[in-house]
Amino acid sequence: MAANSSTGSATEPPGLETQWREIDNLNQQQLRAGDSWYLLDKRWYDQWKEYVHAGDQNSSSYPGKIDNTELYEDLESYHLKERLSENEDFVLVPAEAWHKLLSWYDMMDDQPPLERKVVDLPSTVKVEVYPVEIYLCLSSNMESTVSACFSRADKIREYRLLMDRKSIWTLKNRLRNLNMTVLDACLTLKRHFYWIFGIYMEFCVSRRNSADEDSYRGPPGVCGLTNLGNTCFMNSALQCLSNTPPLTEYFLRNSYLEELNFTNPLGMKGEIAEAYADVIKQMWSGRHYSVVPRVFKTKVGHFASQFLGYQQHDSQELLSFLLDGLHEDLNRVKKKEYIELRDADGRPDQEVAEEAWRNHLRRNDSVIVDTFHGLFKSTLVCPECNKVSVTFDPFCYLSVPLPVSKERVMEVFYVSLDPTAKPTQYRLIVPKAGRVIDLCTALSQATGVPPNQMAVADVFNHRFYRIYQADESLSCILDRDDIFVYQLSSGCVDQEGEEVVMAIYMRERSHYRDYGSGSNSYSTSLFGHPLLISVPRAQCTREDLYQLLLKRLAGSTDTNSQDATDGDQSAGVEPSGKEEEDEDEDEEEEEEAASCAQANKRLPGRRRYTERQKKALFTIQAVNSNGTTERGMGEADAQPYIAIDWDPDMKKKYYNENEAEKYIKHQSMDVPHQQITVQLQECIELFTTVETLEEENPWYCPTCKKHQLATKKLDLWSLPEVLIIHLKRFSYTKYSREKLDTIVEFPLRDLDFSGFLLKKTVNSTEPPCRYDLISVSNHYGGLRDGHYTSYARNKDNGQWYYFDDSKVTYAREEQITSAAYLLFYQRQDKIRQPSVPPPVPSSSQPENHVSSQTHDGMDGASSCVSMETD
Ligand SMILES: [Zn+2]
Repeated sequence: MAANSSTGSATEPPGLETQWREIDNLNQQQLRAGDSWYLLDKRWYDQWKEYVHAGDQNSSSYPGKIDNTELYEDLESYHLKERLSENEDFVLVPAEAWHKLLSWYDMMDDQPPLERKVVDLPSTVKVEVYPVEIYLCLSSNMESTVSACFSRADKIREYRLLMDRKSIWTLKNRLRNLNMTVLDACLTLKRHFYWIFGIYMEFCVSRRNSADEDSYRGPPGVCGLTNLGNTCFMNSALQCLSNTPPLTEYFLRNSYLEELNFTNPLGMKGEIAEAYADVIKQMWSGRHYSVVPRVFKTKVGHFASQFLGYQQHDSQELLSFLLDGLHEDLNRVKKKEYIELRDADGRPDQEVAEEAWRNHLRRNDSVIVDTFHGLFKSTLVCPECNKVSVTFDPFCYLSVPLPVSKERVMEVFYVSLDPTAKPTQYRLIVPKAGRVIDLCTALSQATGVPPNQMAVADVFNHRFYRIYQADESLSCILDRDDIFVYQLSSGCVDQEGEEVVMAIYMRERSHYRDYGSGSNSYSTSLFGHPLLISVPRAQCTREDLYQLLLKRLAGSTDTNSQDATDGDQSAGVEPSGKEEEDEDEDEEEEEEAASCAQANKRLPGRRRYTERQKKALFTIQAVNSNGTTERGMGEADAQPYIAIDWDPDMKKKYYNENEAEKYIKHQSMDVPHQQITVQLQECIELFTTVETLEEENPWYCPTCKKHQLATKKLDLWSLPEVLIIHLKRFSYTKYSREKLDTIVEFPLRDLDFSGFLLKKTVNSTEPPCRYDLISVSNHYGGLRDGHYTSYARNKDNGQWYYFDDSKVTYAREEQITSAAYLLFYQRQDKIRQPSVPPPVPSSSQPENHVSSQTHDGMDGASSCVSMETD
């Protein structure tokens, strides 16, 4: 053991066989959240294994000191190389094993140990080899960023700490739930991190390189789909379909080849079916960690141009297109005959339903019909002549409505006129279909300030993103917007009875002039919160404004330390070569202020102003809505915008940012935010509730011979083997677009439809109508910027998996929660028992991209889960 003796820190290792036994035993440990595991270079570990197995203390396979050199990017930063994979580049050993090895063999040079924590994520417990690396920057200054690593399981409050107070403010409002994990925040706010608060996020997750794929022999179907750029909606729908056993088996046994319909004018010449078959075959080959569905994506875009490009889409729309496309491409009916539809005319339902289904099959007969098509009854009643029209129509999925709340909870910051009062955060209940004035009225009840003395604005990046009019719809305001409501002054209206509402921005000048822009002016950056104030027209002079703003900033400026009257010239003068007091420039600035804020009268008392400015804390500048002085924005008639410009030294001296960022929580914020929870069954009931047709979509009554607003009732008649339920979370009306975040509880097993089916079971040979969940398409986030993933149960081994684009992780049944959007249920009599035993994951058998995880079998106690979004 000469190689070890020099360090002195190593202890004499036990015999080789004991070494192996001890380490091997420790390596069998289960992963527990919070535990530390250590990365060990795979080659060193293999060498050690060979050594201990050789049983010869003097053998040439002695591994030497532990050497992780190959795992580090360099030997200075000791950053872990990207894209290392477990059991290829490194092995993971539990802390105890690591310490033993370290004491026996010591470590090369001064290499730091590669300690990593076990994290408990929604779908898996694993060693987080690569924490999330987040680049933080302030405002939109992408030049200087600080990078920091966080665990996916960290809470948002932990990473607030690293940030400047300004950003804490922003973050607090964007991410109200500070107990949210970094993972959740990534999912829900993915894109906003880039532009809303200028924080750039990047995930440093391990990615397998393609060379690994040759050797991968994972369970068939446990395969990710690469995101080609906002294609998670497609991947999510594909995973649900891929895990629909009858459909996938149909493709895997090549039955589709005999049924490709090249002549169907409604089809796509078999091309969609073939492209889909290719993807499914690759996914179920067991050879790939992840498949790149590029050809499939191109085909889809070719036949449905709305899916061209790389915008985010609705996974349900894609699914609907795909089910239709596959059906027509695989339609066994080569020549569709014309069938005249007969009205029920009082015939018994059974007869009419059978006729309708027969007629449907005469034109539509495919694996899609076999698997997904059901029949519902639609009853229309004319309000005038009471004519009843009954039809039976096939469906491919059920779009069920969610109960809509008529109210909405909004959180706003109220800024009162009192300059010493901190902004106060209120939680208000407003009518969902209300207008901005309704928000003011609700706030008025809490503050006592009349609603007409309030101005409402969306604040973003230290400026006004939008200033709302009282009659604007509240649907313009998203829950994540930072809404500020400003109290406007009253009682100080001038003779003309007019006040001007001015938008005030805070800016800090840089120390240097920005010669590059050609404007020979100082570059500025916005900071703090903007203000909306109302100013009597007569007081729109620069001097009056200065005094007004000085008073208004009393809560955050420290004027006591400034002697404004003793003629201390240095206070307002910039340190070097500054020509602000130069009269020409001063005049220029005034003109700018006057021309933009066109409500201004010609500024009187310019001389006095000039003198005063020498002692001023800040200067005033007319700007555009972006807070810059660039002209030609076509804002002549718009809101006047004024910037308060601070010299950096003055700001440091007199402006108390700490005070300015403080705010108070009103007690309304303590009232817990009540989420509405509904049962899936209630949504199905809503689907079958009588409704009156809307004016845009009347029914032509054959008796009255005119369009009527008939009442309509839908009933389920017969259900398919695989029932897709689409939760109508996206509500698009003429007036609003919104995503409903209602929590829907749905059963994993034994969803019983017998109560919903109109057709009563006549004999025992008919299949029961109990269903088990087989897959879920999830949607996280808002209307335009969400992320889709899916949960699905593997048909062969019965294990649930979580599919997030190219990543696949184990899922436990009780984790199938939150954000469900499409639910796939299979009828129990068609569900086959797993043909292979469920996998026994261990740290040495990675599942797709999972480093390691524990396994929770199929014996999960909960059979009912809840879901929510955001
Ligand atoms: Zn009628």
